Amino acid sequence: MTVKQSFEPEGAASPSNFVSPPRKDKMEGELTPLTLKLQWLLGTNHGDKPLLKRINYLHLFLLTITPTLALIGLLTTKIRYETMVFAVVYYYITGLGITAGYHRLFAHKAYEACDFVKVLLLLMGAGAFEGSCRWWARDHRAHHRYVDTPKDPYAFTNGFWYAHIGWMLVKQDKDKIGKPTDVDDLYEDPWIQWQHRNYLPIALFCAFIFPTLVAGIFWNDYAGGYFFAGVLRLVFVHHSTFFVNSLAHYSGNSTYSDQHTAKNSVITALVTVGEGYHNFHHEFPSDYRNGVKWYQYDPTKVFIRVLSYFGLTYNLKKFPDNEIQKGALQMKMKALESSMAKLNWGPKVDSLPFMSKEDFDSKVAAGVKLVVLDDFVVDVSAFITEHPGGEKIMKPYIGKNVSNAFRTVYKHSIAAKNLQATFRVARMKEKDN
Ligand SMILES: [Zn+2]
Ligand SMILES: [Zn+2]
Repeated sequence: MTVKQSFEPEGAASPSNFVSPPRKDKMEGELTPLTLKLQWLLGTNHGDKPLLKRINYLHLFLLTITPTLALIGLLTTKIRYETMVFAVVYYYITGLGITAGYHRLFAHKAYEACDFVKVLLLLMGAGAFEGSCRWWARDHRAHHRYVDTPKDPYAFTNGFWYAHIGWMLVKQDKDKIGKPTDVDDLYEDPWIQWQHRNYLPIALFCAFIFPTLVAGIFWNDYAGGYFFAGVLRLVFVHHSTFFVNSLAHYSGNSTYSDQHTAKNSVITALVTVGEGYHNFHHEFPSDYRNGVKWYQYDPTKVFIRVLSYFGLTYNLKKFPDNEIQKGALQMKMKALESSMAKLNWGPKVDSLPFMSKEDFDSKVAAGVKLVVLDDFVVDVSAFITEHPGGEKIMKPYIGKNVSNAFRTVYKHSIAAKNLQATFRVARMKEKDN
């Protein structure tokens, strides 16, 4: 039996096989009122499940318990100078685990590293408690490949807060996001697989136990080590990384391309251990640098390069400077063109009508002050009294071809050439000119 799927207009006789329309609140892609309120945080491309079934409770717990614990620590624990210095140092250590390790080494293969450095970076990255390197790098490759589209796991097109944190608070539609993405190498790397298999104990040790032990054993501040070098430091590392998906796609310049939302910004670089030159990075992702200029703040680049002096990292990849400069110049040209488009350069050549010699002469005889300059008919009526050389000098030329005089009798300025083009009214018919 075939079932009719379309709906009859109101008042029409219902056929016996009439199918009721689906309830409006069950329609695919419809957002519940609560989700609509949270749309700024949760984005829109996350299916039609009720909100409570869509939340990723593990992520929600982890991302709210850490700032809460940090606050408890700040309210209950004495702040010690040594612990705070260590917390800042450990922020950079674990931050570099993400930027130099997870991101530039494992996700982008922007350089190579010896096993010792690879393991160290995997441990440092685990200390940032952002998931296993395999999971992280896979999502990040999808982000680059499908940037700003529904397949981008943290698409900025879903809003600043979705890109920052919202994408982790909802369950991702694994069938929709980021496929295909080539991740074979991540599965083939024994160290990445080792970290993935043992992720939880490694991450718990590196994120919390290790900093607690360091502060406890060396200056007897176990509580401070846990709360400040562990938890509070982790909150900062988290949001530092999250800013690469939000702020780095929001604020700054499109220095190399305006085809995506990624931006270059020194402010973003300062809060992301050097990942703020994101426009460059999206254009040249396999370059081990983000801040390509020597003066740009990119401690991750410096870290990778310093290790290379000792042979611990090698094959540091750089995009050819020729290609980098091309991108920058193309964007500069685009900006220039758009500035130029705002000015009056005179009518476009193609838009000007043709004028015959007879027409020209009769108009001049009727008192219109026309001259011919470079095959164009130029109406100087409004300008002749303003002519810097004086009206008298110009008068004898009315009705004549002034091309020669314009250049040789007096070598006119670029400004004069630009100005006369705005007075063009026609093109002279070639045979008549
Ligand atoms: Zn990005
Ligand atoms: Zn990247």
